[in-house]
Amino acid sequence: MALRQIRTLGDPILEKSCREVTEMTPRLEELIQDMLETMYDAEGVGLAAPQVGVRRRIVVIDVGEGPIILVNPVITESDGEQTGAEGCLSVPGQAGTVTRPNHVVVKALNEKMEEIEVEGTELLARALCHELDHLDGVMYVTKVEGELYDTDSEEEEETEEQGEETSAEETAAAQAGKEERSDENTK
Ligand code: ZN
Repeated sequence: MALRQIRTLGDPILEKSCREVTEMTPRLEELIQDMLETMYDAEGVGLAAPQVGVRRRIVVIDVGEGPIILVNPVITESDGEQTGAEGCLSVPGQAGTVTRPNHVVVKALNEKMEEIEVEGTELLARALCHELDHLDGVMYVTKVEGELYDTDSEEEEETEEQGEETSAEETAAAQAGKEERSDENTK
């Protein structure tokens, strides 16, 4: 397994339609594993093959309920509506407001080319719609209501700094503890 480079907005491959998978090959199996690893490494909830430069109808999703692998996915049912923040690993550091169905059913094949059906509401429905759009070369930025905004706020940076301070203190405390224990051992 290996991390793959995530293509970013402006790369022409992100606006192209992807081809169906007709046969699972070792190369595509490796692609799926790499996509999962790349998605987790980037702390995303979904990744589509064109985002790593491969024009194939494959997406991986994990909204915190375990990995979902979809080959040749198609939305067969969609209803309701949700409006909320959406981001994309291909548009780092930004988010925007997008309205999506609140519930979708997707038919697809899994990594063994077996037929599966995935039903999702809320975040999973949003992730399914977003990732399937990638397979048709549609970026979420074309569906944003209003403007994109930066997600790297100063507030987040401050929290990170505080986190680092705490861990540094903990390390110091742990080291102090070790020294005390070794003193005891010498006595
Ligand atoms: Zn995306």
